[in-house]
Amino acid sequence: MKTAIYKYNNGNGALLCSRCRVIIREGIDFTGKDTELMMEILRNGKVEAQYCEDCDTPKSLTHLEVIFSTMCMLVGADYNSVDRTKEDWYLEYEWTPEIEKQFSEWMSDYLHKLPKAQLELYGRRYMRKDECREAVQMFLLSYGWKTKTNWRTENV
Ligand SMILES: [Zn+2]
Repeated sequence: MKTAIYKYNNGNGALLCSRCRVIIREGIDFTGKDTELMMEILRNGKVEAQYCEDCDTPKSLTHLEVIFSTMCMLVGADYNSVDRTKEDWYLEYEWTPEIEKQFSEWMSDYLHKLPKAQLELYGRRYMRKDECREAVQMFLLSYGWKTKTNWRTENV
């Protein structure tokens, strides 16, 4: 789950956009009206992600971006710092076969339920579930993170 990002500076807090890291609010008052927010941060270490106006428009995210950010989330990678213009960017992180399977199921579902995603990625509209699964396998072959073998679960 994406969480809010704070920076502390001389007792003042700044709230950053969880996507682009732009400062949304500065001078968060620890003792005033922001106390509850601060308590929540201290208690859980996290609150729900906050976005700046530019980023707070999920509609502008392409489906590929949604899929990619999910890939990042599953391996704890920072969506904004993975440079996909770099060759072999997908070799920078690893996931276990279990996580890879979770992702593959999620993405198959995503494609299957969202004809607009099919259209964006494959120029199609009525993909069957098995066609979606196949497409995801191809996607993973090209862009999946490296798969790490986990000896603990291998022999179960
Ligand atoms: Zn932003």
